[in-house]
Amino acid sequence: MKNVLHNLKDGEHLALSPFNAIYGYQDIMIKHLGIVGAGTMGGGIAYAAAKARIEVALYDINDTILRQALERIKADLRHGVTRGKVTNEEMTAVMTRIHPKTDLSNLHPCEFVIEAAIEDLRIKKDLFKHLETHTKPSAIIVTNTSSLSVTAIASALRKPERAAGMHFFNPAHIMKLVEVVRGRNTSDETLTTVCNLAGQLGKTPVVVKDTPGFIVNRVARPFYGEALRLLGEHAATHEQIDRIVKSNGGFAMGPFELMDLIGLDINFSVTQSMYDQFFGEPRYRPHPIQKQMVDSGTLGRKTGKGFYSYDDQKK
Ligand code: NAD
Repeated sequence: MKNVLHNLKDGEHLALSPFNAIYGYQDIMIKHLGIVGAGTMGGGIAYAAAKARIEVALYDINDTILRQALERIKADLRHGVTRGKVTNEEMTAVMTRIHPKTDLSNLHPCEFVIEAAIEDLRIKKDLFKHLETHTKPSAIIVTNTSSLSVTAIASALRKPERAAGMHFFNPAHIMKLVEVVRGRNTSDETLTTVCNLAGQLGKTPVVVKDTPGFIVNRVARPFYGEALRLLGEHAATHEQIDRIVKSNGGFAMGPFELMDLIGLDINFSVTQSMYDQFFGEPRYRPHPIQKQMVDSGTLGRKTGKGFYSYDDQKK
C-alpha cells in the first residue's frame, strides 16, 4: 500500500487501476458516517452509504431542508423499486439508516465526515473548523468540493493531515467515479482511509492532485462554456445543442441538461472559482446567462426550472 501511494506522489497522481486490485479491504471499515449538507450531493452520498449498510448522520441547517432531502432519497429508492433494482425491504433499511441532524455535535460518533455544503470557501472552512471541535481527533474530514483548493479548506484545521477531498459525481448513488484529492498536508493514512471508504461504497477512487477543478471538472469546463457562448450568440437553441451533442456526439446528456442536473448555482460557483484560481484565464470565464439564471433563482431541477421545466424531476 505504502509503495502505491509513494509512486502516486512521485508520478502523475493518478491511480486508475481498479480499487480492489490496489487496496483490498484490510483497512478499517467505516460504520458511522457524517454528511454535512443535505442537498443534491449530500442526499445522494447518504443514499449510497446507507445502501452500503453504513449508519449516516445527515446534517443541514434546518429541519425543512432535511425533510426534503429524505423525501428525495425516498423518491429515488421508489424509482429503484419500480425498475426492479431495489426491493421494498432494502428501501426501508436504507431509510432507517439515515438520521437527520441539525446539531453538528451529533456527528461526534462518526469516524468519517463528508462535507457537501455549497461551493463557498468561507463556508467550507468555517464548517471544517467546527467539525474539528465536534469530532474525535481520529476522525477523517473530507470535502466534496468540485473546484476549490482542498489545501485551503483543510487549512482551517489544526491537524490538516486528517483532511482530503472526496469528489463524488452526480447522481452520487449511481456514479462510480470518485476523485480522491490529496491536499498539501493530507497524510498517507488519511488517503488510504478515503480510498477504502470509496471502495466500501462500491465506487472507483482515482487519486488526483489538488489543482482547480481536479481532472473531470477541468475537462468539462469547455463543454458548458462553449455551449453557453453558442446560446449567447443565438447560434442555436439550448434544445438543439443538447440534441446534437447527444444524437451525433454520443453524449448521454447535453450541456444544458447537465447544468440543470448539477444546479445552475453550483455550476456557476465552480466556473467562477476556477476562473479566479487561474487568475482570470479567459477559457474559464463565466457567462452572463449563468449569472442571470442564478440571480433569478432558476437553478435547474432543484427549483423545478432551469433551461428546461421539471415536474417531479421529469422534463
Ligand atoms: P446544493 O445546493 O444542492 O446543496 C447544498 C446544501 O448545503 C444545501 O442543503 C444547504 O442548505 C447546505 N448548506 C448551506 N450552508 C450550509 C452550512 N453552513 N452548513 C451546512 N450545510 C449548509 O449543492 P450540491 O449540488 O449538493 O453541492 C454541494 C457540494 O458538492 C458543492 O461543493 C459542489 O461543488 C459539490 N458537487 C456538486 C455536484 C453537482 O452535480 N451538484 C457534483 C459534485 C460535487
